Amino acid sequence: MFHSTACHHKRFGPDAQNFLGFEAITAFRYHGRVMTKLTKTRFAPSPTGELHLGNVRTALFNWLYAGSQQGVFILRIEDTDVDRSEKRHEQALIADLHWLDVHWQEGPGCDGDNGPYHQSARQDIYQRHYQHLQDKDLMYPCFCSPQQLSLSRKAQLASGRPPRYAGTCAGLSKEEIDTKLQNGEQPAWRFRVPTGGDVQFDDRVRGAQKFNCADIGDFIIRRSNGGAAFFFCNAVDDALMGVTHVLRGEDHLSNTPRQMMILQALELPVPQYGHTAMIVDDKGAPLSKRSGSRSIRSLRESGYFSAAVVNYMARLGHQYSSNDFLSSEALQNGFSLGSLGRAPARFDPVQLDHWQKLALEQADTDTLWQWCSEYPDDQQRSISQRVPDTQRHDFINAVRDNCLFPADVSHWVQVVYDELPPFNEDAAEVIAAAGSEFYQAALNILSPEESEPVPTDFRAFAGAVGKAAGVKGKQLFMPLRAAISGQTSGPEMARLWPLLGTARIVARLQHALKQQ
Ligand code: GLU
Repeated sequence: MFHSTACHHKRFGPDAQNFLGFEAITAFRYHGRVMTKLTKTRFAPSPTGELHLGNVRTALFNWLYAGSQQGVFILRIEDTDVDRSEKRHEQALIADLHWLDVHWQEGPGCDGDNGPYHQSARQDIYQRHYQHLQDKDLMYPCFCSPQQLSLSRKAQLASGRPPRYAGTCAGLSKEEIDTKLQNGEQPAWRFRVPTGGDVQFDDRVRGAQKFNCADIGDFIIRRSNGGAAFFFCNAVDDALMGVTHVLRGEDHLSNTPRQMMILQALELPVPQYGHTAMIVDDKGAPLSKRSGSRSIRSLRESGYFSAAVVNYMARLGHQYSSNDFLSSEALQNGFSLGSLGRAPARFDPVQLDHWQKLALEQADTDTLWQWCSEYPDDQQRSISQRVPDTQRHDFINAVRDNCLFPADVSHWVQVVYDELPPFNEDAAEVIAAAGSEFYQAALNILSPEESEPVPTDFRAFAGAVGKAAGVKGKQLFMPLRAAISGQTSGPEMARLWPLLGTARIVARLQHALKQQ
């Protein structure tokens, strides 16, 4: 629970104080409005780049937790950095979240009572709250130049002290401030941190936390261009939007005491915080683009099922009692803050593919057809252009166990429907070892004397070849598979046989014969 023993700011009023407890509280009063305490979480991305595995998990955890509590999930766009925020990134991240089946009850496209949901449209709100702090002398203008600040940092580091703002402008008189302003200097504004006491809170993932106010220098809450700084607008918005739980990466842990101080100073409710362990790569380094943190767009484009991504990422740092493939609803119902791990979670692409395999096993034939049919092959033809309508169903069922991605399906389209299959090295070896007599015997079976029937399925065909060539088992099946499919493993030949048709099979056996 948050209490600041010697902080000089006013404590919360009785209603707001309730809000700080962990017990279920049904309502609190804010600016005369009674607000019901429904669990509310949020994802607050800055639209400065693509959504990738590293940051999508934060969205998922917040969404899952809100769902587990029948609560509300908010999407808030933190676009205060005008230079780096771009509309196209926002649109892309919204599309990515939709694809993942993550939906919000409040946010862009889904306005609730607490909008606007873009920080760029909330400047008036921030302005009002700056005014409250100014009225209480809890923020002050800072005219220090970047050079001055950097010198001070260096001096502190050199004397073995952690760098924090030295307080140079904290005691400027009104006259000094006015003179600087009249000279056209553009100050940033700092929050006046109490000189003593501490900030304590119970992190929902990491347990009791305590920060000494004396270690926290006065920090910037308003930039010199007038824009709201992250600490400020992020905290104020959480409070005003009624966010009850903030789940975010542990890189934000040291921001939390600062944000709690701001909220306390503004007499705004403080959410509960949970800082999740980072995702790391196989070397223990934070997951980065270089070490495999793929963008959601690239996963979608290579044919991952969104449910596979969600099933894996929801388990990365969160323990579910079931290892089964779970629906969104089951993932939400099974989510609990107590099951979030404190140790870094290691991202393993093999695990992601395991969930992809399970997602594929769940999918019915129509879904799989839909999933792969637009996928282009090497010649930019789509799978749907190449597989005859009447064979869709049988084709998908023949190859589905041998595919993880549409590219794999595309490969089998080529194997089945191209004139000649692409031989791989193993197949070429098997074909050479089988010898010409074997293939001659196989061809004879398919163009027998008029009196003998042509085998209509693979079993009958293989049986007849085995007899004629005097081979069985691997010696029989491998050379047939290698010649007909171009490789030594793959879907059941019995399923491929009717899709290929006799003419294509004959051509392939002749081709194998010519290799001798
Ligand atoms: N916009 C911040 C970020 O993307 C939000 C941090 C938070 O979740 O509070 O890092």
